[in-house]
Amino acid sequence: MERRKIVAGNWKMNCNREEALSLATEIAGMVKDEKHNHALVILAPPSVHIASVAHLTKPYGIVVAAQNCSGEQSGAFTGEVSASMISSVGAEAVIIGHSERRSYFNESDEFLLKKVRQALLNNLTPIFCLGESLSDRESDKHFEVVENQLKNAVFKLTHDEFSKLVIAYEPVWAIGTGKTATTDQAQEMHSFIRKMIFGQFGSALAEVIPVIYGGSCNENNARELFSQPDVDGGLIGGASLKSRSFMNIINSF
Ligand code: PEP
Repeated sequence: MERRKIVAGNWKMNCNREEALSLATEIAGMVKDEKHNHALVILAPPSVHIASVAHLTKPYGIVVAAQNCSGEQSGAFTGEVSASMISSVGAEAVIIGHSERRSYFNESDEFLLKKVRQALLNNLTPIFCLGESLSDRESDKHFEVVENQLKNAVFKLTHDEFSKLVIAYEPVWAIGTGKTATTDQAQEMHSFIRKMIFGQFGSALAEVIPVIYGGSCNENNARELFSQPDVDGGLIGGASLKSRSFMNIINSF
């Protein structure tokens, strides 16, 4: 079976309401008029804009994702937003384990697993991010780090639960830095991740789980990255805030 191609835009903490609505409207219009492939387009606006962005973009087959969710179901967790709430306002996916959450908010693998479980319980597709730091890569520990991120979190899921995931490989040194992994580095790690999935869950899942790349992916490098056999698309930060650039990335398959 052919794996799903995905381009997801992570807007991070950008866009007030007006900006979010105009960016979503522009992207929806371009997707309607110009998309020439079957790639799944995902937009991850700040959570306060999920409902309005979903309302605008769903008619065009665009999926809206949250950038985070709580690992708890409900209750006295001031400031948190649950997976159930996100789902109730139109999100169908959620980014979990982004390196900014792991480093600025100290989110551990165990904590992230709780979030993944909440997402699954509420029919949200977890987009599970992992990736090594610059010092991990420089000390040749990148495979070991990624292996542990898998083993300590999503490899604790059942086969059926894991089958609903999207994995995003995002080397931390490439996020927002303008330094992209080379196509060889990306392909090598994506192939490694797929082999790990094969070892844990078998060939059927290893074949179908999308593994997308994130880290300074833009309209100039997306085509080469996406042409790699194990790179199924991209998680795009900075370049997803410009509708033209984002659309050019979508059309890079
Ligand atoms: C991201 O935040 O997931 C990301 C990949 O950012 P950027 O594209 O800006 O490097």
